[in-house]
Amino acid sequence: MPSVIVWFRRDLRLADNPALTAALESGHSIVPVYIHALNEEKPWQPGAASSAWLHRSLLALDQDLRQRGSRLILRSGDSLKELETLAEQTQAEAVYWNRLYEPACIARDTRVKDALKRRGLQVESFNAALLAEPWTLATGTGGPYRVFTPFWKNLSQRLGSPSPDRPPERLVAPPERLISQALADLNLQPAPPQPAWDEGFWEKWQPGEGGAREALDVFVDGAVHGYGQQRDFPDRIGTSLLSPHLHFGEISPRQILARLRSEHWPARTEPDVAHYLRELGWREFSHHLLYHFPQTSENNLNPRFDDFRWAPVNPETLAAWQQGRTGVPIVDAGMRELWRTGWMHNRVRMIVASFLCKNLRYHWSHGARWFWDTLVDADLANNTQGWQWTAGTGADAAPYFRIFNPVTQAQRFDSAGKYVRRWVPELANLPDKALFAPWELPAATLAELAPDYPSQPLVDLKASREQALAAYSTSR
Ligand code: FAD
Repeated sequence: MPSVIVWFRRDLRLADNPALTAALESGHSIVPVYIHALNEEKPWQPGAASSAWLHRSLLALDQDLRQRGSRLILRSGDSLKELETLAEQTQAEAVYWNRLYEPACIARDTRVKDALKRRGLQVESFNAALLAEPWTLATGTGGPYRVFTPFWKNLSQRLGSPSPDRPPERLVAPPERLISQALADLNLQPAPPQPAWDEGFWEKWQPGEGGAREALDVFVDGAVHGYGQQRDFPDRIGTSLLSPHLHFGEISPRQILARLRSEHWPARTEPDVAHYLRELGWREFSHHLLYHFPQTSENNLNPRFDDFRWAPVNPETLAAWQQGRTGVPIVDAGMRELWRTGWMHNRVRMIVASFLCKNLRYHWSHGARWFWDTLVDADLANNTQGWQWTAGTGADAAPYFRIFNPVTQAQRFDSAGKYVRRWVPELANLPDKALFAPWELPAATLAELAPDYPSQPLVDLKASREQALAAYSTSR
């Protein structure tokens, strides 16, 4: 029986998976494959935290396939070579996959598509990841968007009410003789003698399609009510926690949209749902930007910043930021949450990023790289956009001169100090009044109440703010 290869990449789900649906419709037997090809995504191959997630997501996909009578074939090395070999081994007539939008992936996929077609295979690719692919939306003059509001106005009018495909109930197993590599051989998760630095992740997350479905259920039953307000407070679960699931394609934005449209919301929740869809719109906008401005994962979108006087990086200072030892409590809390859980609340991402790019005046790429390695939701489009937005160098960015004050931000969004006390326990005994700016306490009091916390912040917040503004004014 002829077969169709379904090449899984970042679409690690069986429901609403257009490549899989097309393969099913062909009536041929299906060979599901994942190829681990790190080199092909360089310089943005998955970081350590994403890799640990990927391990578990692949395991979950394999289990889901096995429940339906099939299994996941794992390979590693060169994608084209592996697909060619598999096609020979299975007499495949076609190869189907869902599209990716990062520059290195587009280049690789184009090369693979051409080569497979030359061998006489039918090759089809599909959209599984976005509500609207980047080339389908344009401004009035036909160019790409650089401003979110008109982008969203255009996109939000096209959304409709999608009806995503259900997962298949049964699948025919690929031939038994077809060899799959062992998942452990891909070396995706920390293994002895390395410490299990990802231990804390799995208290918070359940990678895989089942985990994604559950996260959406929890959100629909809870945090969506009041999302518009609650999403800014890092001490509570006020958001959907779907970002890693979306990144790995364990759930699609179409599925989320369909679910949100199918519920009967109380009138007071309707604005929350609209707000949530707008955040999904930021994800779409980020992909639109990266597709049309592929240089921006490395370079400022706004060239005006190309001669900006960024400060030279002091490795010790950078390490103190990375490890949550800056002496600024909300910044340290965020960086430690990231290290422990592989995730950081959006409000705090903005605060720690502003501190790095403005108070320390380091180029945003130093922060983007650290996030890339430590976030389980590290996503080239969203991360690039998030950093460039906060640094002021991006599209529709917060202006450079709007510098987050980490003390007033903490007072506003963590007023009871729950978030800071949770992640920086050595500050637990500080009075509320001093919690967000401990350096204002008399040195002896601070030494007594929090002997293990830095007595001074890495930089004086006011002076560094003025220096940043001075650097900005001379860069015009
Ligand atoms: P929700 O509030 O529940 O939002 C739902 C979904 O909308 C998210 O899962 C995400 O896919 C999307 N979304 C929400 N906010 C944004 C945004 N500002 N930009 C783009 N998409 C958004 N998000 C990532 O997914 N990966 C990253 O690597 C990433 N890096 C970031 C770096 C910085 C400096 C900043 C400021 C933001 C970054 N974000 C990134 C965006 C945002 O912080 C996360 O998407 C969000 O915190 C994820 O939590 P959630 O799923 O509970 O979000």
